[in-house]
Amino acid sequence: MKRRKFLRKSSTVAAGIMSAPLLASYTEKTTSKETNSIGITPIAICTWDFGNATAKAWEVLKVGGSSLDAVHQGVMVEENDLNNSTVGNGGRPDRDGNVTLDACIMDKDGNCGAVLAMQNIANPISVARKVMEETPHVMLAGKGAEQFAYEQGFEKTDLLTEESKEAWLKWKETSQYKPIINIENHDTIGMLAIDKKGDISGACTTSGMAYKMAGRVGDSPIIGAGLFVDNEIGGATATGVGEEVVRTVGSFLIVELMRQGKSPQEACEEGVKRIIAKNKDKQDFQIGFIAINKKGETGGYCIHPGFTYRTYTKDGHINNPSDSYLKS
Ligand code: ASP
Repeated sequence: MKRRKFLRKSSTVAAGIMSAPLLASYTEKTTSKETNSIGITPIAICTWDFGNATAKAWEVLKVGGSSLDAVHQGVMVEENDLNNSTVGNGGRPDRDGNVTLDACIMDKDGNCGAVLAMQNIANPISVARKVMEETPHVMLAGKGAEQFAYEQGFEKTDLLTEESKEAWLKWKETSQYKPIINIENHDTIGMLAIDKKGDISGACTTSGMAYKMAGRVGDSPIIGAGLFVDNEIGGATATGVGEEVVRTVGSFLIVELMRQGKSPQEACEEGVKRIIAKNKDKQDFQIGFIAINKKGETGGYCIHPGFTYRTYTKDGHINNPSDSYLKS
């Protein structure tokens, strides 16, 4: 079964799995009218067709919850979905058979936290938020991140499912790493949201490339590369081959382009073109960017056709096909 269909089918199972303490952390509850004081209605947007994630984010936003809680709880839906083999629990392992997870989160004040190549913890986005809120640091990696998670009360979890283990053993027969555009090897969830106050936050979480070298970290937990938010301007996040996003500091670039006056759509297009410019002879990989600005406008762009992004606003819940640099 194609992964996208598979995900659509399976992710309904995970909808609604949320721990009680997190549900309790909805901070601001109000039932006031949809539009906030600066004329913006809440929005959640995420990479790919992770509709259960945007639905969860919307649940938070519509009752007046913060954009930080919305993106946190939204992406956790995918981390908890055992059938999603590219994010969180059930993610594909590295070439040694270890599942290593990357995540970062950024709030309206520019606070941010990240975990890199962390094992045995099912919700890296929650640990990233703890790094942001409970430590003087921005990033914790590997064993240090895992140790910190235990200190914060997270439980040790075996993240390698039987299905992932079988797929890994099969991969070991040839041990070839080859990105397959839009399918299988990578599909990060990056999410951006605007709340009723007009404040923007973002989150990004992934198991990274399947069968990567031990210790490999891509763009997803790197603030500026896989995710960036500036509450004055907007936010951006990425999916695809992380090495290429890091080389252009893609998400920061897109926010800066919006600062210079580009729309989210124009900024995403320019971000992809910068990557293309550095890869004139090699375009057999996918990158997808999404962005949002302070006015609540959104955009998305990718290299190859096939990338989609979800938006949830008061007008509906839509899976948007992204325009692409290459047309076939
Ligand atoms: N960007 C992620 C990484 O390189 C993978 C992905 O988005 O598919 O680790």
